[in-house]
This record gives sequence, structure tokens and C-alpha cells, in this order.
Amino acid sequence: MSTEEAPRSVLPYPPIHADAPFVVLSDWDGTITDKDSNDYLVDNLGFGFDKRRELNLECLSGRMTFRDSFKEMLESINHPFEECKEVLKKNIKLDSGFLNFYNWCKNKKIPFVIVSSGMAPNIKSVLSTLIPEINENQNKENEIDIIANEVLFTDKEKKGKTWEIQYRHPESGFGHDKSQAILPYRNLKHKPILFFCGDGVSDLSAAKHADLLFAKVMANGHSDLKTYCEREHIKHVPFRDFNKVLERVKDVVEGGKSVEDVLKEEGN
Ligand SMILES: [Mg+2]
Repeated sequence: MSTEEAPRSVLPYPPIHADAPFVVLSDWDGTITDKDSNDYLVDNLGFGFDKRRELNLECLSGRMTFRDSFKEMLESINHPFEECKEVLKKNIKLDSGFLNFYNWCKNKKIPFVIVSSGMAPNIKSVLSTLIPEINENQNKENEIDIIANEVLFTDKEKKGKTWEIQYRHPESGFGHDKSQAILPYRNLKHKPILFFCGDGVSDLSAAKHADLLFAKVMANGHSDLKTYCEREHIKHVPFRDFNKVLERVKDVVEGGKSVEDVLKEEGN
């Protein structure tokens, strides 16, 4: 039973959408965005691609936890936090179909929740730059729920001259155990239909609790999540951009298709 126990969270969760018949949860980096923002920072402002790749492999082989490897990568970025945000705002773009999909969800009152291993302030600042109507200072209605890690400013003035990641689940090897974002929906009495979109193996802990899993495939055909799903025979829908997600979610929400129909049509 102990492995099933929920890890202690040091950060609050947004309230769950307890009455929604459908909920969409999605990874941020490389799924909603065109590239991984943390990799971008490490490769360009930190110790660079080769060392990052080395730590990725340490993590994949099980010699190091994701939490510790990711922390080490971020520690190599000796730039003020504000500067990092500016770099991301200039270089990170959204998936070409995302805004379409997000607006459709909003219109249909389908909750959309971002579940990320990155730091919430970075996500908010990229989002509010790329989609100005989603602004952290605007009213609640225009806010997207973000369940991620946080940042701690470690300089004396607390301005972010120096900083470190604050993990949501410091005792978990994932730093943020994404399954904890989706499980409360799984336990609701009315059993909402849960859609999850991701691209990496770190998404699997949450993805396995979804009814319909979407695995993002990069332009070069690469997808860690899709490869993993194929190997482990996990049913999923591959997608190149969110227009495909929109089409398939619409099939279920408006088109009278069941999740099983969609999965079958996608070759599962
Ligand atoms: Mg990702």
C-alpha cells in the first residue's frame, strides 16, 4: 500500500472542477509549446546540451531521480530569474492548434488544466505573452489552472538574482508527481471523461489514469510518450498539433462517439 500513498504536497492545488462532465489535462513543455522551455534554458544559459543529455541518460537508466537531475540542470543557469523569463518569452511558441482548441474548450465550459514539471511563473509569463487575453492579473475567468512546481528566490533581496526550483512533492523522485493532479477527478462519483495530452515519459503517471490519452509527436516523428505507449501496449491517440486533439475530443463531446470508438479508429 505504501507505494500507492499520495506524496506530501508543499504547494496548494487549484479547486477541482467537481461537476464537469469532461476535463482536459495537459503537459506544458513540448506539448502545448513547440519546444521544452527548461531544456532551452539549460542548453542556452546553463551548462549546455551535452551535459544535459548526460543527466537525461542517468535519469533514464535509473541511476538518478528526475528530481535531482532536473535540479542540477537548473542550478547551472546562473542568470537572474527575470532574465530567464524574458528569454523564454522571446523563444517559446505555442503549438499551432492550441489556441483554437483552448478557445473551443472555454466556449464549451470544459475545464483545461496544465500539469507541468516546470515552474509556474515561467508558464504564466509565456502564456500571457502569447495569449494576451490570458493574463495573470485579469479576472479568474481568463485564467488557466496550472499545477506545476514553483520558484524560490534565494538572494537576500528576494528579487530572483539567484533562485532555485521549489518542488511540489519534494519527497517524490519526480519532484512533481503528476498523477496527483488527475486522481481527484478519477475518484468523482459521476466519472467525468478525462482527456490527457503529453509528450514525455514523465507524463505517464498521470496519463495512465486518463480515459483518452493523446501523445504528441514532433515534426521529425519522435515521441518518447508514443514509443513508450507502443512498447507497453497503452492505448493512445498520436497527434502532431492540437487541431487533431480538437477533432477527436469533439467526436466524443459532440459527435456521440465513445472513447473506445475513437481509440479503435486510431488503430488501438
Ligand atoms: Mg513535456
